[in-house]
Amino acid sequence: MKVGFIGLGTMGGAIALNALKGGHALTVSDLQPDRGKSLLAAGAEWKSTPAEIAAEVDVVLMSLPGPAEVETVVLGPDGLHAGCRKGQICIDLSTNSPTVVRRLHAALVERGGHFLDAPVSGGPSGARSGQLAIWVGGDQAAFERAMPVFRSVSDAPMYVGPIGAGSVAKLVHNLSGYALQTALAEAFTMGVKAGVPAEGLWRAVRQGYVGRRRTFDTMSRQYLPGKFDPADFALELAHKDVGLALEVGREFDVPMRLGNLVLEEMTEALNHGWQRRDSRSAMLLQEERSGAEVRVPLDRIQAIVDEDGE
Ligand code: NAD
Repeated sequence: MKVGFIGLGTMGGAIALNALKGGHALTVSDLQPDRGKSLLAAGAEWKSTPAEIAAEVDVVLMSLPGPAEVETVVLGPDGLHAGCRKGQICIDLSTNSPTVVRRLHAALVERGGHFLDAPVSGGPSGARSGQLAIWVGGDQAAFERAMPVFRSVSDAPMYVGPIGAGSVAKLVHNLSGYALQTALAEAFTMGVKAGVPAEGLWRAVRQGYVGRRRTFDTMSRQYLPGKFDPADFALELAHKDVGLALEVGREFDVPMRLGNLVLEEMTEALNHGWQRRDSRSAMLLQEERSGAEVRVPLDRIQAIVDEDGE
């Protein structure tokens, strides 16, 4: 298929390369032209505006920071809306607001096109390997038609329901993760301050009931070694995701005590200047408050995993 790709950042660059490797003819664009270099070298074509891309392709994928950028790319003066053709499918891989994607969907349907919200989960390594979950909302026939493109970038594309359903699934997933991260920082600083070094504590609990569900292994890449740069997932994007989840909660009158606390935690971390650090850097705030540091060197983490098993 002829595929367009807009937004070639940490996720988009790798996903676009897989679409190209999957045999699709690829046209790409980003606000920062240097982001396209390796894709052009691999055979992709460059266009400077979304409208120019829309004029040429069957399917357009977007991987952009959030609602404001996706809205600009779709409805802006040189946006996809201006170039949209009958039957064209626009797929938003960004983590976006369900309300915003419904509005964009309505605007493209008016032009005879389709809009699918299709947020992804799997991080940069999943974007590269293709072991990437994609949760899709929108017209099911359009989802089926775009399947060759989905299959080229993901081992697990899943139709969830009408437009907005993919975004809701993604926000449920991410809010669960960040609430858990906040709880882990609290529990572990308590443990360290109570006199048990982080290494022994982590080693013990990862073999317990909760640990065997792999909960504690989420700590091993960034938090335990204290390695937050470069970001796997930037704090400013995580802050946006939690904010979007809380908007959904407000829209449906759901009290979200922990979610609000998580957002405050991330807002405070942003005010430390950590926007582009990994989102787990927010866990350091609890270390500041508690006066306890939860660090295990990378070589010890690897040794423990080797010795005790995955
Ligand atoms: P990123 O900041 O690395 O990339 C965003 C890209 O969009 C940049 O290259 C930027 O130049 C480009 N861009 C911004 N505005 C634009 C515009 N108006 N026109 C064209 N290009 C524009 O972000 P990322 O980490 O790749 O994340 C992208 C999306 O995927 C976000 O919505 C994020 O929440 C989501 N996501 C990220 C991860 C992750 O681990 N990084 C995982 C799952 C989902």
